[in-house]
Amino acid sequence: MRLILLGPPGSGKGTQAQRLVQKHGIVQLSTGEMLRAAVAAGTPIGLQAKEIMANGGLVPDAVVVGIIEDRIEQPDAKKGFILDGFPRTVPQAEALDDLLKKKHLKLDAVVELRVNESALIDRVEKRAEETRARGEEVRLDDTPEVLINRLAQYRSLTEPLIHYYSERRKLLTVDGMMTIEHVTREINRILTAIGALEPKTEEPAAQAKKAVKTATKASKLAKKATKGTKKAVKPAQKAARGPAKRASKARATKTGARAASARKGAKAVKKPAKKVTKKRAKR
Ligand code: AMP
Repeated sequence: MRLILLGPPGSGKGTQAQRLVQKHGIVQLSTGEMLRAAVAAGTPIGLQAKEIMANGGLVPDAVVVGIIEDRIEQPDAKKGFILDGFPRTVPQAEALDDLLKKKHLKLDAVVELRVNESALIDRVEKRAEETRARGEEVRLDDTPEVLINRLAQYRSLTEPLIHYYSERRKLLTVDGMMTIEHVTREINRILTAIGALEPKTEEPAAQAKKAVKTATKASKLAKKATKGTKKAVKPAQKAARGPAKRASKARATKTGARAASARKGAKAVKKPAKKVTKKRAKR
């Protein structure tokens, strides 16, 4: 799954991205985090970005596009990713489109977290307080003054992306004013609805376990059905043992596909067992 989380600072993109990462095992690619790491490490990109970030401005498009291009190439991003804070301008979105096209990758959706601006200052102040309480360093740009600039940047440069992705039928809007839990649930619900998420399936191990159970039951049924007809018991049991064997193999390999075929085999076994007894009864 490839997803973009779109929303102003303090809308909950980072929180929701982390929750999606935990649930679906894909990576969160936050350009803000990457830039902060670059600033901390004092790399050339960090040196270039430091001042801009401290004032709540946007780092040049070419810089962030370059960062994302490299990051998407990493093995951990192959399964999918959640872009948090990127793209932030139309040229960044266009560059991302080109990048994905070049790599034959599809963007599943853009989830916009819609929030009331009035709530954002409170949220950002709360985030700063919580960070302080954890004994961690507060972000330089998490102050009401810088936030005003970041919001202005969002309105003029990032908000046009709502139209950009809506035209491309990628935009899904979620009410970001709900509780964290509700927002997560709503995001998962819409992602499932558009087919970006598989409906929850059983673990392969659980499927295999079920297959073994069904095969054993089928074997018992086959034995019961052929009770008294000594010769007929043999083929029925043999047929039942087949899927049971396959089922235990599936359990060993833990592959869902094998487990499914084992279950099919277990169902099929009921028929030959019945047929044999009928024939016997006629005679
Ligand atoms: P964030 O952590 O997403 O709030 O980003 C923190 C800061 O990093 C922003 O205020 C910008 O200065 C910079 N930044 C992060 N992502 C981008 C981006 N996609 N384009 C330009 N600047 C960015």
